[in-house]
Amino acid sequence: MSKLHSIARAASDDLRARVHFCPETGQIWLHEHRMLLVHAEAQALLRKELIDSLGMDRARGLLTRMGYASGLRDAELARTRAQNCSDLEAFMTGPQLHTLEGIVHVTPVKLDLDRASGRFYGEFLWENSWEGQWHRHHYGIHTEPVCWTQIGYACGYTSAFMGRPILYKETECVGMGNNNCRIVGKPIEEWDDAAEHTRFFRPEAIADQLIELQTQVGQLRGAIAGKEKLPADLVGTSPGFTAAYDLLKHAAASQITVLLIGETGVGKELFARALHALSPRRDRAFVAVNCGAIPNELVESELFGVEKGAYTGALVARAGRFERADGGSLFLDEIGELPLPAQSKLLRALQEGEIERLGDNKTRKVNVRIIAAINDDLRQRVKEGRFRSDLYYRLNAYQVNIPPLRERKEDISLLAKRFLEKYCAVHAKKLRGFTDKAKRALLTYSWPGNIRELQNTVERGVILAPSGTRIEVEHLFSALAEAQAREFGLDVDGSLGVHQGGSTAALCEAIFNGVMTLDQLEVMLIETAVDKARGNLSAAARMLGLTRPQLAYRLKRLHEADASGSVLEGAAPADASPGPR
Ligand SMILES: [Zn+2]
Repeated sequence: MSKLHSIARAASDDLRARVHFCPETGQIWLHEHRMLLVHAEAQALLRKELIDSLGMDRARGLLTRMGYASGLRDAELARTRAQNCSDLEAFMTGPQLHTLEGIVHVTPVKLDLDRASGRFYGEFLWENSWEGQWHRHHYGIHTEPVCWTQIGYACGYTSAFMGRPILYKETECVGMGNNNCRIVGKPIEEWDDAAEHTRFFRPEAIADQLIELQTQVGQLRGAIAGKEKLPADLVGTSPGFTAAYDLLKHAAASQITVLLIGETGVGKELFARALHALSPRRDRAFVAVNCGAIPNELVESELFGVEKGAYTGALVARAGRFERADGGSLFLDEIGELPLPAQSKLLRALQEGEIERLGDNKTRKVNVRIIAAINDDLRQRVKEGRFRSDLYYRLNAYQVNIPPLRERKEDISLLAKRFLEKYCAVHAKKLRGFTDKAKRALLTYSWPGNIRELQNTVERGVILAPSGTRIEVEHLFSALAEAQAREFGLDVDGSLGVHQGGSTAALCEAIFNGVMTLDQLEVMLIETAVDKARGNLSAAARMLGLTRPQLAYRLKRLHEADASGSVLEGAAPADASPGPR
């Protein structure tokens, strides 16, 4: 070992003589290589930022390769020296440079090499490892060695010097809590787990990966934004609603005629407007016509326009809805009500894109997208000869079925909330929402008139409820509707008659059909008990077979669910709840 040490000392002296500081030119030279004297702390901060932004693994790769590149440069110098001295002496250039450069103090422990045969074994003690100390400073004790740049240097240097791949590993490292670092190097084939380490020497296309990830994030953001951007009045998250809306979206970009089918009041016009808003025609006119609301003798002039003098009373020429919708969309509601002559003209407009005003024989070109709607099955009208089959097939190219509200129970809360906000604004009223009984009534009612009925009901509630209060059941429903609501499990006073004969089945049905959840049932039981006990929690708890703390806990939990939930779901005792007393 003393021989190794004296070689090392000689190399060190020689190398120091090769370092030149040139303040005049602002350059530092090590033999032929320009060097930098940098702040270790600044370098450590760069290293930290690499780790924090890229993760340990990627940063380790980058740093290892950076060290490897330094090792290659220093090996050039070692090889020029090898012409005048032994392999062993020449090799010590690397460890001495590593020391001189301020990276780590290297002491050879065991070194056996022969460049001709390619034999190599090296063991070194590393003291004052720059990298290990800073890593420990920033991240604390690590489970694996952390002197990545330095290991990279040793590998690059020795591989270049020996002309064959030599791999080093740290057997001890200050980063792992050892007092010093210790490294062992030998030809790559002599390591069993070489692959685990050599992967860090392969450059990664990090930029490509970052760009790829950025693109993905952008697409995901777009998808999320697209999802949130439901047209203003279209509200819903239920599977039925979502399926219909998805169908609509797929048709939006094309010119295809869309036929909307759904019961009265399901919001067909809203869907039609949404289709228009999603289409490339969004900046042009959206014209809506209810074919069932126009007297038969006027339908043609309404749709296709009139020339002056076409009939008695036609004093001026007037464009029809088709012309007004030119470039945009024409929504024909209740299209089944269209009289047969108008159906022929409509078919021609669809097929040729041409119309003629009443009393005119000039053909006008129109570019209109038709959105048609009907309440029932058009096929019956076709069978009865009241609707042209060719027009039916033309219109039926793309059907979108809009489910009735009773099949969209999940959406009732959202819709009720929306209407509440709307009508509070319209009627300049401040209300605190719905009472729990009112919430339950909204959920259990069957809504034969669909969304329109819900909308009217909420508006009625907003008008009748005193400002500053919550809307109650009686503000929402007339006696008649309330009677119907009872069929769905509601009592006169709005609570489900659990103890009354026959109601148990209705209650079970309500839960099986998703009309009510178990949580809501729990709320009802607790509420009823608290009501009966006149707010005395201990008495209410006895009624429920619970301890008072158990009941208080449930109330708290339900109250929290209500605070985080929507207006109706999880109908928890908000104002109705007395809270722990
Ligand atoms: Zn180390």
